[in-house]
Amino acid sequence: MANMQLTPNQFVLEANRDEAVPPVSQNLESRRYQMFPTLSEAEMKKLQRFGTVRTYHNGVRILEAGHTTFGLIVTLAGRIAISRYDGLGNSWPITEHGRGEFTGEVSQLAGRPTLVNAYAVGDVEALVIPPESLRALVIAEAELGERIVRALILRRVGLLEANSGGPVLVAPAGHGRLHQLRSFLASNAYPHTVLDPKEDEQARSLCEYYQPGPDDWPLVVCPDGSVKKNPSNADMGRCLGLLPDLDEDKVWDVIVVGAGPAGLATAVYAGSEGLSVLALEQRAYGGQAAASARIENYLGFPTGISGGALAGRAFVQAQKFGVELAIPAPTTRLICDTYPLEVQLAEGKRMKGRTVVLSCGARYRRPALDNIAQFEGRGIYYWASRIEANLCQSEEVILVGGGNSAGQAAVFLSGHAKRVHMVIRGEGLKATMSTYLIERIHATANIELHAHTEIVGLEGDEDGLKGVRLRNNRTGEERDSNVCRVFLFIGADPNTDWLGDCGVDVDPQGFIRTGHDVTKAQCRANFDQGIYPKDQPQRAALETSVPGVFAIGDVRAGSTKRVAAGVGEGAQVVSQIHAFLANLPLATH
Ligand SMILES: Cc1cc2nc3c(=O)[nH]c(=O)nc-3n(C[C@H](O)[C@H](O)[C@H](O)COP(=O)(O)OP(=O)(O)OC[C@H]3O[C@@H](n4cnc5c(N)ncnc54)[C@H](O)[C@@H]3O)c2cc1C
Repeated sequence: MANMQLTPNQFVLEANRDEAVPPVSQNLESRRYQMFPTLSEAEMKKLQRFGTVRTYHNGVRILEAGHTTFGLIVTLAGRIAISRYDGLGNSWPITEHGRGEFTGEVSQLAGRPTLVNAYAVGDVEALVIPPESLRALVIAEAELGERIVRALILRRVGLLEANSGGPVLVAPAGHGRLHQLRSFLASNAYPHTVLDPKEDEQARSLCEYYQPGPDDWPLVVCPDGSVKKNPSNADMGRCLGLLPDLDEDKVWDVIVVGAGPAGLATAVYAGSEGLSVLALEQRAYGGQAAASARIENYLGFPTGISGGALAGRAFVQAQKFGVELAIPAPTTRLICDTYPLEVQLAEGKRMKGRTVVLSCGARYRRPALDNIAQFEGRGIYYWASRIEANLCQSEEVILVGGGNSAGQAAVFLSGHAKRVHMVIRGEGLKATMSTYLIERIHATANIELHAHTEIVGLEGDEDGLKGVRLRNNRTGEERDSNVCRVFLFIGADPNTDWLGDCGVDVDPQGFIRTGHDVTKAQCRANFDQGIYPKDQPQRAALETSVPGVFAIGDVRAGSTKRVAAGVGEGAQVVSQIHAFLANLPLATH
């Protein structure tokens, strides 16, 4: 992966994109007053103690996309012009902030680099609030904090809807790695632009300059103007500030591994109770729940909520409480014969924690088909988000699986695809799916159920999947289908293969045992060496065989595999962490 820097505006064409301001939806337009609120004089007075007054002369750049990190900038006098910026040098005016209005979007809560440019229009006086003071402010001034955080979230939604700001991905349409990177960005709610060199003059100029080889796609222009050839997800994380430079010497009260619903709940509850929390996530926040098109059984959402929206709110909430979230940060080893405990990242760093919470959930099962990996992201999908749904507009698709997640995905896809062929091995859905979903499937005209059926072969080329072979297990009959998109929802295995070194006790399927279910206590060494007190109280309900290591959510043996259950355990574990920390000998604090 090469990393190069564009000179500002190097690829801006004479016909700039300035005139084409990407639109936002009517729904968002109607919430413009919430997106760009004007604070009252009384509210501005409340903000004073959180910031410092600064002056900027006319024309000065106050914020530089991809570079400047700040919390909130509140205009006191003059005006601040805000524009979207895409790293290639294109910009789109968004708005101007006068007295009482403020700059920023949701990245600012965590002190990540801004996605927009800002310039002083006339001489400007502004109150500059750093990220940590912004977090203190939204907690201390609850009502004002609500208005501010709502505005920050809506602005990110605006950038996402307009698909503007953030990195620019340049690749031929349909490129497999392009899809993977887009999926990574979309899962982390990062706006981005895709340009096809066949269609776009700017993209063509960029390719002529960088001469990408076959393995160099996509070219990615980061918001700071740096250009990367076929970057890894970690490169993308660094490019966006999602993956911070973590300090190996810092000892965290809690290291959370996995930012699905359970891990995010721990992050929020532990952060809100003053514990220092590092959350490490290998791909995208929200875990499996983020793949759910509509969660209808989560308390408090009578009309349902998409998993992405629920996870997005939790992610912002965790940032509000000062949780450090690193994405993508896959962990590869838990080291528990030392104290503080250590968690090793794939890139080699070892992070230290007084406690570790394993909330690493489960991963989708893959059918035993030789060439399946070749088509992943190019016809084979393990989730059905809006991106995948848009790919199969008016197409026939196959969906494999008979569980609740399969049912939800089928209903969601039926709103986009011409026909959804639901393929199941068994006789029917009754044993595996909730009744309300079965009824909905029966009521949906373009969902067709194929019982006693499985996929036995995949056909395609480098462009993607071109067809599948299906077998009826009762009759043995095989037939070919020219369906090019297959969605697999056939269950999940626990993400515990990286825990071997530490010897965390797991059941035969690999799910982690906790509390009374633990069959063999390991890592007694730390007790014998006096690192833990000999009279450590009985193992807590969510504590694993290793003292100080807890397991929650789907990865825990015997847990209820539901969002609410994971969130409940995520909250419950925090009191057990407090109890563990309170019992540590003083020397280890
Ligand atoms: C399509 C679908 C629809 C669903 N619909 C519903 C529903 O309607 N209602 C309901 O209650 N439940 C639903 N579920 C189930 C629900 O999503 C799960 O029970 C829930 O997400 C479990 O949360 P978790 O945090 O325990 O684990 P997960 O959601 O699996 O999250 C674990 C996280 O850990 C990360 N991780 C794993 N290993 C590592 C590592 N080594 N290093 C760093 N990070 C790691 C993963 O990337 C992931 O983000 C659905 C599931 C799916 C797949």
